[in-house]
Amino acid sequence: MSDRVARQPATTAGSEASNHPEEQQAETRRVEVRRSRRRRSTVSAYREGDTTIVSIPARFTVRQEREWVNTMMTRLDDKEARRRPSDDELMARAQELSQRYLGGKAVPSSVRWSNQQERRWGSCSMPEAAIRISYRVRGLPEWVIDYVLLHELAHILVFDHSEAFWDLLRNYPKTQRARGFLDGLAFAEDTARTSGEHAGHESSPS
Ligand SMILES: [Zn+2]
Repeated sequence: MSDRVARQPATTAGSEASNHPEEQQAETRRVEVRRSRRRRSTVSAYREGDTTIVSIPARFTVRQEREWVNTMMTRLDDKEARRRPSDDELMARAQELSQRYLGGKAVPSSVRWSNQQERRWGSCSMPEAAIRISYRVRGLPEWVIDYVLLHELAHILVFDHSEAFWDLLRNYPKTQRARGFLDGLAFAEDTARTSGEHAGHESSPS
């Protein structure tokens, strides 16, 4: 059985009947298709927990619906995979970022995920140039992960947070946005943790 649920205006014909084998690759994941008369040709999709909500124009045929559901599932899966890179992928990404924004000058010996970071987003130990990125960063938007990687890469070149350090990050267009994102996230984490207990205040990558 397919797990998909089609929610549509009562006046349109149901499409629950479309039960094709290729849709069953979704396994236990639920897909909810919303048809909108206001939509002309755009399709959008997002996930809420285990459910993927795909919005399509009301005029789409069952076949178009199926194709678009598959397309959007693949796109969202790819996007999520990029948010959860493996250690090897993290290393590859760091090397790319170093090439692109630091002229390839920051050469890490290793880049890996770590659950030892506690209050930090990442760390870079020198002189080994070993970078560890907190698991808390896993699943965050790609541009935020990239910023955390770049921040630690820049520490290979400049140890402290001096002007020279921030100069290195100037070429990355989302530095300020990512810092704001992480500050907000740290604030939310602190708020969630509030229990009269003294909370640490180190929220920036260091
Ligand atoms: Zn730092």
